[in-house]
Amino acid sequence: MENCIFCKIITGEIPSTKVCEDEHTLAFLDINPINTGHTLVVPKQHVPEFQNVETSLFVEVIKTAQTIAKALKVTVPAERIGIAIVGYDVPHTHVHVIPLLDHHDITSKKLLDDTRGKPTRPELATVAEKVRLALESL
Ligand code: 5GP
Ligand code: ZN
Repeated sequence: MENCIFCKIITGEIPSTKVCEDEHTLAFLDINPINTGHTLVVPKQHVPEFQNVETSLFVEVIKTAQTIAKALKVTVPAERIGIAIVGYDVPHTHVHVIPLLDHHDITSKKLLDDTRGKPTRPELATVAEKVRLALESL
């Protein structure tokens, strides 16, 4: 899909900090994380809204999200791991996998306060490396 940021991330046209990839899905760190380790899981097929993703593909996305959640739990500070599907900014289905430190982390409080992190690429790369290592030992 032309002009879709996430399609361009999938093809490698624009850079991302990848965490893991398989035939149907890709997981990479959010550039503007709610908390350290905030990961986005996308299907490689461009479908704007999740309810229109073929169920078998959506299952693959959720399976990847669940695996990422396990790796995050042993990698970054997190009382819980939350997931959310929003899609207001980028109309390519994606599941946010978010390490939670506070009940309001999964709500809009941080978005409204504009208190989300803005890590550098090297900082993101360090986090992604730790998550990839955790994935290998799951
Ligand atoms: P939503 O569409 O669910 O409202 O949010 C889109 C998410 O994608 C936001 O959390 C935003 O920080 C993230 N995002 C937007 N553009 C990019 C990008 O180019 N790279 C990465 N890694 N994340 C992005
Ligand atoms: Zn797309």
